Amino acid sequence: MKFPLENLQALVRCIACNQSKSARKIVVLDEQEKKTTLHVVCDQCGGASLVHLSLGQMGIVSLGVMTDLEQSEAKRLYQGAPISAEDVFKTHQYLKEYQGDIKDLIAS
Ligand SMILES: [Zn+2]
Repeated sequence: MKFPLENLQALVRCIACNQSKSARKIVVLDEQEKKTTLHVVCDQCGGASLVHLSLGQMGIVSLGVMTDLEQSEAKRLYQGAPISAEDVFKTHQYLKEYQGDIKDLIAS
């Protein structure tokens, strides 16, 4: 489902203020055969959302959720490498051996 951004904009409605023509800052995060994920910032209220568009037998379905991610953060999240089993194991080992205060761990 590779539509030009102008066409996608007509399908997107701000889930915070319900304006359909206000979303001006749209970034495509992921685009596959029948689904597209967008990061949308509303120019009316400033609300940001992640919008998932999928093409099914009944037409296009749009599902949006509010986010506090900036567009650059969302891009990094969606286009970065997936977390591997090795990453999870290393994190588990680190936390198992960690002796400090939990506040220091979170702040670092
Ligand atoms: Zn809005």
